[in-house]
Amino acid sequence: MSTPYVLIVEDEDALSTLMQYNFEKEGYQVGVASDGETALAKVEEQQPDLMILDWMLPKLSGLEVIRRLRSKPETESLPIIMLTARGEESDRIQGLDTGADDYMTKPFSMTEMLARIRAVMRRVRPGLAEDKLRHGDIVLDRVAHKVKRDGKDIHLGPTEFKLLEHFMQNPGRVYSREQLLDAVWGSDVYVEARTVDVHIGRLRKALMEYHDHDPIRTVRSAGYALDVED
Ligand code: CA
Repeated sequence: MSTPYVLIVEDEDALSTLMQYNFEKEGYQVGVASDGETALAKVEEQQPDLMILDWMLPKLSGLEVIRRLRSKPETESLPIIMLTARGEESDRIQGLDTGADDYMTKPFSMTEMLARIRAVMRRVRPGLAEDKLRHGDIVLDRVAHKVKRDGKDIHLGPTEFKLLEHFMQNPGRVYSREQLLDAVWGSDVYVEARTVDVHIGRLRKALMEYHDHDPIRTVRSAGYALDVED
């Protein structure tokens, strides 16, 4: 699964619960720790994609947690959003090189927090949320470069893979041969339009190896589209 994992490290239960609720609603996998030592243990268990870390924590301070994470190669670049309480540490943290990627002063709005999380995710792991494209019974894994249909492995050549990836970004949309040439082969390469037909044929054959339904729709004189019933 490629669901991004966010670890919340916060000793105020009400705030922690509120964040957990909102992050889960947004589709993140969420872990919670209420002190610095537990936080480090949780990171050992499962490496988060992002940590929300309170500055003042029991046992180990937020700053110490960052120091320890930054001293290990596995976590030296783990994205961290630091939380500070207004008037207490926020002035200090602003002028301090804490090693955090971003920080927010309490109280903050959840909308703002979610926007910051998305920004950090985009910066550090571009495309993380979209490692896998799904449409109907087809799953395309961009990282592993694998395609499955109805749970069975589909073996595709590099061009067929790119074609399918392009279709899956906009399922149902009809693409002309010229649009597919531009998207898959590049506009600076001269390829005959009928080359597209050849590769579409190969893609179709591969996708139908264990399946009767043809997911590629031919639109007469217009082009092709990917259509899979849900
Ligand atoms: Ca605290």
